[in-house]
Amino acid sequence: MNSNELFKSLFNDYDSYREKKINPDFINHEQIKELIAKMQIKNLFRVGKLGESLDGKEIFSAVFGEGETKILAWSQMHGDEPTATAALFDLFNFFSANDKYDDFRNTLLKKITFHFIPMVNPDGAKMFTRENAYNIDLNRDALHLQSDESKILWDYAEKLEPEFGFNLHDQNSYYTAGRSNNASAISLLSPPMNHVKSINYTREKSMQVICRISEALSQFIPQNIARYKDDFEPRAFGDNFTRNGISTILIESGFYKNDIKKDFVRKLNFIALLSAFKSIAEKDYESIEHKKYFDIPENEELLFDLLLRNLTLNYNGRNFKIDVGINREKKLNKELQSFYYKSKIADLGDLSIFYGIEEHDLNGYQIIPDNKLGIDEPADLKIFFNGQLKKEVRNGFIIEKVK
Ligand SMILES: [Zn+2]
Repeated sequence: MNSNELFKSLFNDYDSYREKKINPDFINHEQIKELIAKMQIKNLFRVGKLGESLDGKEIFSAVFGEGETKILAWSQMHGDEPTATAALFDLFNFFSANDKYDDFRNTLLKKITFHFIPMVNPDGAKMFTRENAYNIDLNRDALHLQSDESKILWDYAEKLEPEFGFNLHDQNSYYTAGRSNNASAISLLSPPMNHVKSINYTREKSMQVICRISEALSQFIPQNIARYKDDFEPRAFGDNFTRNGISTILIESGFYKNDIKKDFVRKLNFIALLSAFKSIAEKDYESIEHKKYFDIPENEELLFDLLLRNLTLNYNGRNFKIDVGINREKKLNKELQSFYYKSKIADLGDLSIFYGIEEHDLNGYQIIPDNKLGIDEPADLKIFFNGQLKKEVRNGFIIEKVK
């Protein structure tokens, strides 16, 4: 079986590894604890507690494999970015299975020792915030290491000295792969080590592995793979790990059409990580020209959740043609531990260079705001046509219009 056939087959068989106890849109620490306890009784995994978050929630590690190459992968250092945490538990299920992939799995376990830290920021996960309990962004705390969670991750990496690091995040749904309307479902980054973005051997390797990930994913999402912007962030973990000789690969789980709950992107993560591990185990990344990394289209922020084009706005007796871009924010109801959506106007004016995940050409429609139409206003718009009005509410969008 060549690589493409293998990943296609894994893609088709993914459901048998999918950890059904968790969903990728919201994961709480209790669920992680339960799953970790189950892993503890399996021979394959060495499970440990690394320490606690500021609010006293355990941060766990799972180690397995006997190989010479050490890999460290961590997820959810931003609490509201849980997709990869779900994918990691799918991977654990894959590694503990016995089936037709035994040869592949055993090769990985023989060549690599895996170190995983799922959910680095459990307090943020509970509140569904990017930051930890004390409002610190852990990925801007790699220099000062003020937060216990940052310190745990940093100390672990320093002691382990892994050859490869996988930094797993979610990005918002407004990114595209290049200047197109193709949503960026997976975006990949080899973090730089300085402002001039030098490429040394450490970074070259992560670029090469990223090329292999991109190849593996391209049979499923040829138009939806992007390269994350590589501006140097001196306070971030990936940038500092690269500088310290860890070939770091950042994977951002983005948006794919009709995948609001991110189940499909979770599956893509599963494939992306396995393709990287395969390439590392077989060292076949060495044969790829690292410059191919730059052929992956850059991540651009060109999407709105809803784009209304060519509306007429009347102000003081004059008519203006405007487009209105509306975004839907996901908010957590802390008491109910469930989500609701709030829409607001993200931009307006000439939005002809942008795209909407949902778009409508409202030429001939007039927009009548309650107050003044402005950015950050709640998107409860009234849109009239021939004096008639019809209300539509969908997924947090409230627009009123007529047909
Ligand atoms: Zn993030």
